Amino acid sequence: KRKALEADLLRQVMSMQQKALMSAKEHASGVAYTKPLLTDWRPTTALATLSKAEADVLRAQHKVEVEGEGIPAPCPRFADMRLPPAVMSMLKAKGILRPTPIQVQGLPVALSGRDLIGVAFTGSGKTLVFTLPLMLLALLAGGEGPFGILLAPARDLASQTHSICEEIAEAMASAGLPRLRCMLSIGGMSVRDQIEPLSRSGVHVVVATPGRLLDHLQKGRMNLSLCRYVCLDEGDRMLDAARGFEDELKQIFSFFDHQRQTLIFSATMPRKVREFAMGALVDPVTVNSGRAGAASMDVIQEVEHVRDEAK
Ligand code: ADP
Ligand code: MG
Repeated sequence: KRKALEADLLRQVMSMQQKALMSAKEHASGVAYTKPLLTDWRPTTALATLSKAEADVLRAQHKVEVEGEGIPAPCPRFADMRLPPAVMSMLKAKGILRPTPIQVQGLPVALSGRDLIGVAFTGSGKTLVFTLPLMLLALLAGGEGPFGILLAPARDLASQTHSICEEIAEAMASAGLPRLRCMLSIGGMSVRDQIEPLSRSGVHVVVATPGRLLDHLQKGRMNLSLCRYVCLDEGDRMLDAARGFEDELKQIFSFFDHQRQTLIFSATMPRKVREFAMGALVDPVTVNSGRAGAASMDVIQEVEHVRDEAK
């Protein structure tokens, strides 16, 4: 009898954990979103009309594995993705000519508006999979924003992602598209400097570490009423118990009172990430490229040990 009780308790705890990415309001009112927030994005016609078998052949060629329902077809070329010409030229100028496997499948999924769990090794090009769709979404949005938040477990990573968003924003603006405003929100920077653009004209995209973003939300400097896109980069590090972001993430998510597109990227897929994802994502697509947890063989990784104060 005791065993049965314990098992029951465990199930309850598990289901509470799985709801960790839902807001308390959603949780309390039993709101559960069942349909993804699809966008109007479509790949070029040839790809949009691929049969499932043909799509699977392309996936096998690019060594990507997928799980989920109604998965958008992979796009083996950037030209298939209907990106603005300004973005195409920016990629070309950076020597980014062909999408990497995670991009081949991850971009169509994210551009379609589907929730995504992206697993691919370090250096495989995950950043573009979550920055490009948000920047395109933000082009269409009106109001003060933010329309999307990109969360990273470390300041330097947030800062790199922010630079990439700025690069995309610059490229779009120089082609006559609206100038998107991207805000970096990390600890160690003056709050006043950070919120200055926010109070002046609003921002489209916020790239943040959880602590500082939560601070802005709690102090009412920012709200998520128009935010419909949220990404956790390096989900394995974000949800690693030792780092203690989980509680901050829960609190951040509690500021949502509407559905959003949620993406989680990770180089590895520990159980914790999977559980979190399954509880919070709506009809998600999992895209797995290469052996999860392995490092890219195309990237030289140099590690230099320094003392804390020399970092
Ligand atoms: P990850 O987050 O998966 O570790 P990044 O997104 O940081 O990888 O990308 C690693 C590097 O690869 C970056 O310098 C990026 O500019 C470059 N890169 C991304 N996509 C491509 C591509 N399709 N072709 C060539 N280089 C790319
Ligand atoms: Mg990365």
